[in-house]
Amino acid sequence: MIQVSAVYDIIKRYYRFLITTHVRADGDAIGSEVALYHALKNMGKSVCIVNDSAVPQIYKFIVPNSVMHIYPELPKEQAEVVFALDCPTLDRIGKTRECIPKDAKIINIDHHISNENFGNINIVTDDVCATGEILLSIFKEMKINISPYIATALYVAIVTDTGRFTHTNTTPEALKAAAFLIECGARHNEVTKNVYNTNSFNLIQLNAHVLNTVKLHFENRIATVWVTKEMLEKTKVDAIDTQELADIPISIEGVCVGVLLREMTQPNWVKVSMRSRNGFDVNNVAKKFGGGGHKYAAGCEIQGSIVEVQKFILAELEKALLQKK
Ligand code: AMP
Ligand code: MN
Ligand code: MN
Repeated sequence: MIQVSAVYDIIKRYYRFLITTHVRADGDAIGSEVALYHALKNMGKSVCIVNDSAVPQIYKFIVPNSVMHIYPELPKEQAEVVFALDCPTLDRIGKTRECIPKDAKIINIDHHISNENFGNINIVTDDVCATGEILLSIFKEMKINISPYIATALYVAIVTDTGRFTHTNTTPEALKAAAFLIECGARHNEVTKNVYNTNSFNLIQLNAHVLNTVKLHFENRIATVWVTKEMLEKTKVDAIDTQELADIPISIEGVCVGVLLREMTQPNWVKVSMRSRNGFDVNNVAKKFGGGGHKYAAGCEIQGSIVEVQKFILAELEKALLQKK
């Protein structure tokens, strides 16, 4: 890859690096950040990670103490180079934008189809399962030693973005990358335990409330579930720890699009997460509301009450499903 040598030149030439990702970072976002953090640190660089949103509980075990700044707690040092990982547009890094110096070089590494190539260097491809898979190729090309810390972080990226190797992005390359990471010492048992098998009792109680909201629409081809502010307050669950609930509606037999609606952003705005199958493209629907993502997993934020937002999104989904027939 020609851009990889350009990235390598920049890494050699500069000293102060900032790594960031999209708002409400997921496993690929955090795993990729942590892996790149270790790689740059091992090269003797000054590195910090700055994110808009808190780290979900299930990913905290891979984040070294005090390397991650969460807005508004910003680092004092001015970065010369900014890595934006798993982030389709510069807007998606959220409030972290405020701490990007005007003259910083931006390196954009991502796998979203909706990526806008906003960097000075862009390593963007949508035929990989995760941003972590791209980073692994870059590290291999740069002949960077993959330590067990780097391997574990990249394994988190790949295992979460493939839905534990169940989504259509589970390619032979994704599985080979995971196998290679385990050879490098990725602690996969620890990943499984922390990411999938350590639910708090509060989260299980929230699941019960959320399951009670499930509804089928449009000849049972669309399923919706809700998370309201009231449910979060009642069960004392942090909204950032509710991302995995998006897997519930799409798991229903015969459903083509699953939608999770969450009251978690500004008042009177709803975060919508869509998951799909059978060739139905939710990225196109998310784009109509200023969002984006991938063909089978996309999201957006829509103004209105949860009831109104459900109506808006169902109307667009039904239109798109009719066209597909
Ligand atoms: P989510 O529904 O937030 O779990 O996101 C599903 C996928 O869509 C992830 O790859 C996100 O990064 C992406 N995504 C979610 N919301 C947006 C948005 N507003 N703009 C662009 N991509 C998004
Ligand atoms: Mn992501
Ligand atoms: Mn990703």
